[in-house]
Amino acid sequence: MTTDSADTDTATLDLHQVDTSILGDSTSVEDAGAVPEPEHKGRVEQIALFGFITVPFLAILASIPVAWGWGLGWHDLVIATVMYVVAGHGITVGFHRYFTHGSFKAKRWLRIALAIAGSLAIEGPVIRWVSDHRRHHAFSDREGDPHSPWRYGETVPALLKGLWWAHSGWLFDVELTPRTKYAPDLMADRDLRRIEAAFPAMVAVSVLAPAVIGGLWSMSWQGAATAFFWGSLVRIGLLHHVTWSINSICHAIGERPFKTRDKSANVWWLAILSMGESWHNLHHADPTCARHGVDRGQLDSSARTIWAFEKLGWASDVRWPRRERLDVRRCQ
Ligand SMILES: [Zn+2]
Ligand SMILES: [Zn+2]
Repeated sequence: MTTDSADTDTATLDLHQVDTSILGDSTSVEDAGAVPEPEHKGRVEQIALFGFITVPFLAILASIPVAWGWGLGWHDLVIATVMYVVAGHGITVGFHRYFTHGSFKAKRWLRIALAIAGSLAIEGPVIRWVSDHRRHHAFSDREGDPHSPWRYGETVPALLKGLWWAHSGWLFDVELTPRTKYAPDLMADRDLRRIEAAFPAMVAVSVLAPAVIGGLWSMSWQGAATAFFWGSLVRIGLLHHVTWSINSICHAIGERPFKTRDKSANVWWLAILSMGESWHNLHHADPTCARHGVDRGQLDSSARTIWAFEKLGWASDVRWPRRERLDVRRCQ
């Protein structure tokens, strides 16, 4: 182990020595070679899926011009966007690439800040989120995966039912992923356990802060109300659906340029809103890689954020994509 300064994240360092399969990085080079070629679905299924998924998105987008001027203004847009970007990258950079997969090491304060930022997305407390996601990688699209859209089979009705399950039905599952089994490294961190316990308070902040800021900014109740609608309700709802889309859409349709043992796929039209997470096929092929959009033109704002953290000296040991790792995982 290298000797890092006292404020560097030691829990992650320990994890690097323990068991890399817990990080989702169980695909060895030999495994990758043995993976069967992905199967392809019919056109009807593709169209059904696409409609099922895009119509609600279009409805949200359509509501913006309709509301502009009387129920939506610049203040609301700024508040909602800032909250979306902070909470969203808290999930993608923090909960996902850092806490779940150990794609980089972070200064102690950044580790705490990422845990708090991700909590503002209201997708559950950090250790719970990480445990579910590590289980997803351990069993992706097989029995034991908490949210595979293929759970009920491969026919259109089974897939639509499975998509609902993968998108949000699984959240209502009474069975919980054991945190001590899947995230012992995080359970050992007292600060993270505190943040986990303070989750209800962070939910309250996430829901109420836009209204307070919007009210003070415009010095009006109207400003508080519209900021609450856009900065809390719409922002939380949109980020939820985008995150869940990685579990549903990105395991059902899209491009599969890399070999994996599951049905993970790259979905280009979700790249910006998902902050780079929709390059999900590469992610399953090389889970600890800090960049998911590894190919030319693949936008990945989470990787760009990690890059900035590294330049600022806040992050270190970043696992950037390596050509030889990509080459052996790429379909011929
Ligand atoms: Zn996945
Ligand atoms: Zn992952």
